[in-house]
Amino acid sequence: AAAATRLSQFGVRHVAKGIGRLSSEVIESGSGSHVTMVGGKRYLDFTVGIGVANLGHCHPAVTKAIQAQVGTLVHGQVNIAFQKPYLELIEHLIPNMPHPSLDTFFFWNSGSEAVEAAVKLARHATKKQNIIVMQGSYHGRTFGTMSMTRSKTVYSQGFNPLLPGIFSVPFPYCAQCSIAQHSSQNYSSSNCCMDPITQLELLLKRESAPSDTAAIFIEPVLGEGGYVPAAEGYLKRVREICDKHNILLVTDEVQSGFGRTGKMFAIEHWNVRPDILIMAKGIANGMPLSGIVSSRELMDTQPPGTMGGTYAGNAVSCAAGVAVAKAFKEEKILENVAARSKQLRGMLDKLWAEQEIGKHIHDVRGLGLMLAVEFKPGTAGSIGSKVQAKCKEKGMLILTTSIYDTLRFIPALNITETDMTEGCRILEESIREVVA
Ligand code: PMP
Repeated sequence: AAAATRLSQFGVRHVAKGIGRLSSEVIESGSGSHVTMVGGKRYLDFTVGIGVANLGHCHPAVTKAIQAQVGTLVHGQVNIAFQKPYLELIEHLIPNMPHPSLDTFFFWNSGSEAVEAAVKLARHATKKQNIIVMQGSYHGRTFGTMSMTRSKTVYSQGFNPLLPGIFSVPFPYCAQCSIAQHSSQNYSSSNCCMDPITQLELLLKRESAPSDTAAIFIEPVLGEGGYVPAAEGYLKRVREICDKHNILLVTDEVQSGFGRTGKMFAIEHWNVRPDILIMAKGIANGMPLSGIVSSRELMDTQPPGTMGGTYAGNAVSCAAGVAVAKAFKEEKILENVAARSKQLRGMLDKLWAEQEIGKHIHDVRGLGLMLAVEFKPGTAGSIGSKVQAKCKEKGMLILTTSIYDTLRFIPALNITETDMTEGCRILEESIREVVA
């Protein structure tokens, strides 16, 4: 315990305070759906590193692949030559893409870098500049992606000036557009919210002409904006608008990709073809790796020399990615997501339906194992953070999301029925105790 305290205090003193942190404990190890802290405290982990270790911590096959690759080639460098795991990963990814036109890849390290790569490609290919994003979106922390992020001001506050030419429209989700719900001034008794497609069309007429607009970036399920799936029919209409105006549709699946929503990519729920798809997080179960994919015709509008990066598509990360792709098939991961999602969602819906508990709940939503509960704004302050603290006391890690009072649940996609039952028990108990 003394060693744990000393390490924790050292971290608090010497690590940048700008990194927001759920806990100042020190993680020693992770295995499956659990992490163990220095000092021995063990937690059921419903964060898996913010939706990264989708196959659980230290998945044996992924660890084995990493170990083997470390002894073969650590760093090849993409501007020198191809490397085997990189090409093998592409071979595994192609059949899993949401559309057969998506067959040409560029890998990078982080989600933010991949979003930046998509912006560069969209501008280069269309010879246009403006970018439209969704309100509530999160695209990263680099200058470009910070300028595109619309989920919380903390990500951009104090860092101005941001990149120009970024416009935003409301994300289509009724539970969050009712003004009365979230405004302290209930100035209108009528629900005056405007159809989000109309708002997009107005933006293209008033602020960013189609002839200046390169791309629309969308997370099919808002991540840091509250685990909000796009309303039915919306993405199809956006696709039509993009086709009409020669604007590219870019889906940011950094958080929603690789099985998180119950399909390999969330966009499959709506059966819409993106021009560029952005991936990261779950792709390599914790090794740094991200990428973009498009048609060959689109990707190759960028000539040799325009793309690259010292560590981009690192060989060890790609080897981990190959092991992830194999495990997905062998372990029938998507079937488990469906079953465990039902379990968790069932518990949340049950609480929502109860009069005493339900009156504090504004919404239960999400897809697959990307689920959230939003509490009603109350006088007692944030219910979510109190539930989060209670869960931690009881041995379970969960995260909040968005500017609203929302808890999100991102367990490992291969979480066992027993661990999910335990997670549901802790969560239900914590919610009951907090709102009682
Ligand atoms: N896009 C989305 C949808 C994300 O959720 C994130 C990370 N939370 C990013 C981009 C940025 O990824 P990274 O932190 O790896 O740069």
